[in-house]
Amino acid sequence: MSWISDAAFTPDEPFGPQTLPYGVVERGIAVRVGDSALPLRSVAGSLGPRLPDLVGADSLDPLLAAGRPVWSELRARLVELVSAATAPRGAELVPIDGARLPFAVADYVDFYSSRHHAENVGRIFRPNSPALLPNWTHLPVGYHGRAGTVVVSGTPVRRPHGQLPASGGPVFGPTRRLDVEAEVGFVCGGPVRGRLSTSQAVEHVFGVVLLNDWSARDVQAWEGQPLGPFLAKSFATSVSAWITPLEAFAVARVSPPPLPNPVQPYLVSDSPWGLDITIEVGVNGTVVATPPFREMSWTFPQQLAHLSVNGATVRPGDLFGSGTVSGPEKHQRGSLLELSWGGQEPFALDDGTTRSFLEDGDTVTMTASAPGEDGSVVGLAEVTGTILPAE
Ligand code: CA
Repeated sequence: MSWISDAAFTPDEPFGPQTLPYGVVERGIAVRVGDSALPLRSVAGSLGPRLPDLVGADSLDPLLAAGRPVWSELRARLVELVSAATAPRGAELVPIDGARLPFAVADYVDFYSSRHHAENVGRIFRPNSPALLPNWTHLPVGYHGRAGTVVVSGTPVRRPHGQLPASGGPVFGPTRRLDVEAEVGFVCGGPVRGRLSTSQAVEHVFGVVLLNDWSARDVQAWEGQPLGPFLAKSFATSVSAWITPLEAFAVARVSPPPLPNPVQPYLVSDSPWGLDITIEVGVNGTVVATPPFREMSWTFPQQLAHLSVNGATVRPGDLFGSGTVSGPEKHQRGSLLELSWGGQEPFALDDGTTRSFLEDGDTVTMTASAPGEDGSVVGLAEVTGTILPAE
């Protein structure tokens, strides 16, 4: 029996002690336990000699910089504290609403690591070419995104303007093909480093969030050749308010689907880091897709090793997205572009309306979970956002 409500300790509670995600509430940095948050300031006196300085901060930035040994020590101590029969001195629980973006996003990179997604997009955008470009099975394709417009779950998203393709030449106006991309995001930390091996890369990932890479498909189709996404994606990227520590995914590890060719030695991973995370994508309350993350061909250690192989530094607060998560089945596609096959096959919502792309007022909510120890469930905190009309 813990001093915290028993409800937080039932096997199907995704944010029990097996998860303990980190976030920031009005009282500073906190861990989430069930539907409550435990501000770490309130238990600083119970954390041992070297942790209180970190937990007195108003963001996770000092903790991200501290590195794996401190992350492990703090997590182990917090599991003890929330599982104890009596409350630590001064401990208080507060509501989780009001959580904010918990860290300063340094650099943001987005990958493209689902073979199913890459092939679907290839077929939709380049119908007369091979679905997969030749580099895809040899490297984790990615692009540098815009850190300054990463926003926390719950932030409304304004429909962006841009150049849209038209038969007589481009027109300027609000996007007509506003879309989502269901992704898993990885938050980096530890000492600033250049080139990382795949095993070193694991030590530089603090935790995992859900990420919605909002996309304007008409803008993307016109601007994207030859250099890739620019304004089609930089207007907003939403992430969970709570970061699930990487250590919570110990039993969710799986082997990724094999690639058809050997990879360069720097991309070889000596242990499997596919993750058995299942995402649910909801539009106005209707579940429209359940993308399986275990289907991703490239894993996060490979992505981080590739990102840094030229000497580019990895800093605390760097964020990288997995790329849209899509599985082989139609209901496993992680974007509306794929679900509606480029707008040719609109799909129905429970309210009787249909969608190919998002309308003003639509709310998109993604949730996800993975298997935890002893039959428990490890949660990734939801990422949600509502579309505001273009200004
Ligand atoms: Ca993306």
